Amino acid sequence: MLTLLSLSGEGEETLAVLAEATRALHEDEPFARRVHEVFKLLHRGMRYGDARLTCWFQSARPGAQRQQFFSSDTLAYPWDNQRMRQTAMGRQVVRCAVPLEGGGASSGALVRCGGGMVYLGAPVVWGGRLWGVLEVRSDGDGSDDLGGAAQELIGALLPQVAVSIAREGERQYQLSEPNVQTLPVLLPGPPSLLAQATMLDALEHELREPLGLHKLLTMLLRWSLDATGAEAGAVFLVDHEQEELVIQVYEGYSPGMFPTDVRGIQRHRWKWDVGLAGRAARGGRALLVRDVTRESSFQFQAVAADLRAELAVPLCVDERALAVLVLDSPRSAAFGDEELALVHALCERAARPLYHAMRYQEIVETSTQLHQVFSSLPTGLALLDTSGRVLRANPAWATVWGVGERSGGEPVHVPLDLVDDLLPRLQDPLLLVQFCADGQHAPREAQMMNIRLVHPSQELQVLSVPTHDSLGQVTGRLWMVSDVTREREVERLKNEFVSIVSHELRTPLTSILGFTELLLVRQFAVAEQRQFIQTVYDQANHLSKLVEDLLSVSRIEAGKVRLHRWVVALRQVIAELTNQIGQLERHRLLIRLVEPMPPVYVDRDKVKQVLFNLVTNAIKYSPDGGEIELAAQEVRVGEDGSGGGGVPLEHPVGRWILVSVRDQGIGIAPEHVPLIWERFYRVDNTNTRRIGGTGLGLSITRSLVELHGGRIWLESAVGRGSVFFFTLPVAGDMRWDEG
Ligand code: ADP
Repeated sequence: MLTLLSLSGEGEETLAVLAEATRALHEDEPFARRVHEVFKLLHRGMRYGDARLTCWFQSARPGAQRQQFFSSDTLAYPWDNQRMRQTAMGRQVVRCAVPLEGGGASSGALVRCGGGMVYLGAPVVWGGRLWGVLEVRSDGDGSDDLGGAAQELIGALLPQVAVSIAREGERQYQLSEPNVQTLPVLLPGPPSLLAQATMLDALEHELREPLGLHKLLTMLLRWSLDATGAEAGAVFLVDHEQEELVIQVYEGYSPGMFPTDVRGIQRHRWKWDVGLAGRAARGGRALLVRDVTRESSFQFQAVAADLRAELAVPLCVDERALAVLVLDSPRSAAFGDEELALVHALCERAARPLYHAMRYQEIVETSTQLHQVFSSLPTGLALLDTSGRVLRANPAWATVWGVGERSGGEPVHVPLDLVDDLLPRLQDPLLLVQFCADGQHAPREAQMMNIRLVHPSQELQVLSVPTHDSLGQVTGRLWMVSDVTREREVERLKNEFVSIVSHELRTPLTSILGFTELLLVRQFAVAEQRQFIQTVYDQANHLSKLVEDLLSVSRIEAGKVRLHRWVVALRQVIAELTNQIGQLERHRLLIRLVEPMPPVYVDRDKVKQVLFNLVTNAIKYSPDGGEIELAAQEVRVGEDGSGGGGVPLEHPVGRWILVSVRDQGIGIAPEHVPLIWERFYRVDNTNTRRIGGTGLGLSITRSLVELHGGRIWLESAVGRGSVFFFTLPVAGDMRWDEG
């Protein structure tokens, strides 16, 4: 257990600890024992939980460097090597609070102090060189642990620690040098080589577990950093097609160590003709640069000021580099042949598992993409097994059928559950059952059918195709259901258009041809001639109106209609209209304008076209003797829709002229009211069939009114007549003027 002495801020005690620690460091004892003696002495100078010294033993031989940890390990939490490397990179003493995230198994008792620790890390720098990192941790409450006195003591001790590490490095080098010359690097021999072999075994063991790509690369990088003492490193995947490297994981980089600031970058690509990693990827060979400042072929200095040693090892399968591991250090000659061989061995062991992880990742990504397509398609899709059970369905499946998704993951059966859910709406339930039975009898055939639903009326198209497993065995069916109501409607309208237009063209053309032929072949009395010519003229007019309507529709649809607006008196437009219509023979037209009638800001011809369409419809669809009233008055529409004389709720606010055309005609049944505004829509009954028309007038009329910013609507009762209302903007009302 840890012994916590009372905080000693007294200088004398600190000096005494320093003197004793210095003496301990230079004793003739094994290095590890000396370090632990120092740890023990430190307890007298400061309050701390445990300590660790990371050493990089460097020797005279360039690149021969070994990393070793000495830890008192009194606390149950693992040491954080990334933090250690950051401290080393920062080159200054760091004191910070560290939250405990999932600490050691026996951490329960220690979390009592607010769930955190205080960390003090000091890089062992001496003579411009980094020798190691001394770290101490305290599980106190964080307020005054490891404060000024502790930092002073540690700071004073650092040069002594550096000297000891330097000497120990020399000693180890002298011991191991003869072996290094003769032994292959990975054979058991000196302690560090044995440790390397153990590490490789351990890595291999871990790689046996199936790993995600990211986890595998992170693990490989951590192992490599820890094994070599490198301060920073990254792993790139190689994109041979694009000749690029894609960074996957990285650790330890400071701004001075990397061409760009890599922090925060999730995925980044580099052309592979830049840098050591690119070379390693292209050549499929491991590369080492002991000091980039002395290597003329690498121009690193310009981009990464602090970088000195760099090592790049490809992970190859069948002589093709899948990835490249890069290790970097700001220490010149931080890596040598030994590090290179070790990292190479690590990468060799990781290459196969990486290959599998990449294949696995590809499968995961393909499956994610397919899932996205499946769930975002507007077509209802369901995979059924051979017995009709729904194994998987997309959200559109329930929407298209108009049934709620079943709760609790209850399996759904087609057709049983489907017929059950749809029964009130199915026009012919047996059709669905028969369709499924046919599918069972011919499991390898594709099938298609259309299903009609009522309330509301809807037409669905069902396509059912067999599905197979990888061996070609039928596994069930994929049902694709789309709502074709709209397509059917468009088709119906198109057919109607062809028949209406050909009928509407043929009738006047026949009479024009007939009468002109008569006039050509025979002599008639002047009065008779006049009557014939009048008929020809009327029919030609009719044709011209039809052609005009067709052109208007196509112009409106193409958005090519432009309004030529003027300030106009509506009274005058109405007068022109009555002139155009002429004297009505079988109806009475009443005009009622409520004064004061402010002028409107409109396209005169277009408004005349609107009025003409509505008045001629009123005439067409009223019995002889009927009265038609054309009325207009000003209305003011408020924000809340008030004062608008019955205008629709969403009507724009402001001053408007409300025009109405009332007739005492056949009226329109409520179910047709929303549809009559569509192109070519005609209410189909004996009356309208007799009357003739194209179904274009109201669609054009609505578009023209809306182009002016107004609205059009109607009230009607079958057999009692209809009133069509529309609004036009009053001139000078700024609210619509600017729009
Ligand atoms: P058309 O009159 O050429 O058929 P419209 O687009 O003007 O085409 O009208 C569409 C349909 O609306 C008409 O076919 C008719 O059934 C109905 N309709 C239009 N105006 C009236 C009206 N005043 N009274 C009764 N029905 C009408």
